[in-house]
Amino acid sequence: MADQADQLGPVEIRKASRRIEYRFPVNEKAIREALKSCGAHFQKGGDPHWWIGAAKGKMARDAIEQALESPERQEKLTFKEECDRRRTEGLILRHRKTYDLREEIKAAGGVWDAYAKAYLMPSPESLEEWKRRCGEAANPAPASQATPKAASKPTGWRTFDARYSGTCCVCGERIREGETIHYHKEHGARHEGCEWVEVPANAIVLSGGSGYGCNGWAVGQVLRNKDCRLGSARERSQREIERRVREAAGPEPQRIFKPFRRSDESEESWAERLRDFEDACDQRKEWESRRDAARTEIEAKYPLDGPEYLCVIRATSSYVHEDGLSFGVGDESGYTYTAWCRAATDEEAAPIRQQIAEREAAAQRQAQRAALWERIMGEGTRVECEDGQQVILDGEEIYLTEQDQQSRLYGGGRWFVLAEDRLYAVRNNGRDGDDWRPNTIRTGGAGAYGAWIPRSGVEDLNLLHTSTEA
Ligand SMILES: [Zn+2]
Repeated sequence: MADQADQLGPVEIRKASRRIEYRFPVNEKAIREALKSCGAHFQKGGDPHWWIGAAKGKMARDAIEQALESPERQEKLTFKEECDRRRTEGLILRHRKTYDLREEIKAAGGVWDAYAKAYLMPSPESLEEWKRRCGEAANPAPASQATPKAASKPTGWRTFDARYSGTCCVCGERIREGETIHYHKEHGARHEGCEWVEVPANAIVLSGGSGYGCNGWAVGQVLRNKDCRLGSARERSQREIERRVREAAGPEPQRIFKPFRRSDESEESWAERLRDFEDACDQRKEWESRRDAARTEIEAKYPLDGPEYLCVIRATSSYVHEDGLSFGVGDESGYTYTAWCRAATDEEAAPIRQQIAEREAAAQRQAQRAALWERIMGEGTRVECEDGQQVILDGEEIYLTEQDQQSRLYGGGRWFVLAEDRLYAVRNNGRDGDDWRPNTIRTGGAGAYGAWIPRSGVEDLNLLHTSTEA
């Protein structure tokens, strides 16, 4: 039977041989529960979905329909819309004093956003008011004479030996039974050596889930702030930007290499292939400019929010046993990670900055080498057979990339040959299925083809010996 798909509300239902597959947004808890209750299974992996044996299809369908209409879900939808509105309007109250004032904030209509670790307030007025009240709570007016103790109130940390194992609230590492800890009823336990740092209200919060490939952060870690480009927590990543760029640019046309004229090829056939090649080049160029324009536009729309380099001041992780997809794990179970960061100082950022500069310089050199290789192939003198025999190029062989070196074994790869007075560009053309006729260079396999220019025509021969390692 061919694949059939139909849609039931947000659920895509697909029949695949003896299974029925269900795909729907991860936040549709009611639907997930309905399927679970029918005995559906969750399929992990690249294309995660729920499935059930075909015999139970009718039962599952009824259950989904019921779940879609449940008042609980309707209410949730309205609630979600309201939360989205507050997020887009920036009605976000993030302050270290919100915990102390939580009951009053909730009573005033604030909604706790566990993912963003902040309250979403109903209106700009209430946001302003609660910002002010949190500020007052943080910096109380000078204490009156009657309560001089209030100013020197202890910080709330007690020191004793841990009775149970646990997790440090500063570094996120394990605390073993019997270890000396500092304990605070609000923050939890920390290692004796882990300094407590107040997280400022304007800290940048990063979050990630193990199912999305996040491994968490460590206190003191310095990183580039590429994760804060998009507004909502779930979308904060460079990868998301790339996805939008790809979507805007459309499918990438295949990369095509300049053809070589076969020795027995007719003038027309060659001209036609050359025209096809030029058309393909034009298409690719068009796509590239569309992609670059899309990136400029999207990056401008979501400017980097905050400093370029961050230093982690607190990091936590928590394990989610079930329903992880609703909590940003990216899987049914796994870890969620959170890091609070401040701007890194210039000194802290220097090593990363240098790494990035080195990586960019290496990439640029690599691009120059590739351009040189292309230029020789395009403009150079073609290597011809001698007495009907493939020739052996005498000189130092330098691969274009490491990958080219690896693919030589299989009849592929590109390299330079630096001879006494010439520089050759060589394309290995010995794979099964390649057209071996243009081959004029002996390789030990089916052969390669190539072209050369005088060595004196290369401005900077050092370029060739740039390390190809990343
Ligand atoms: Zn610790």
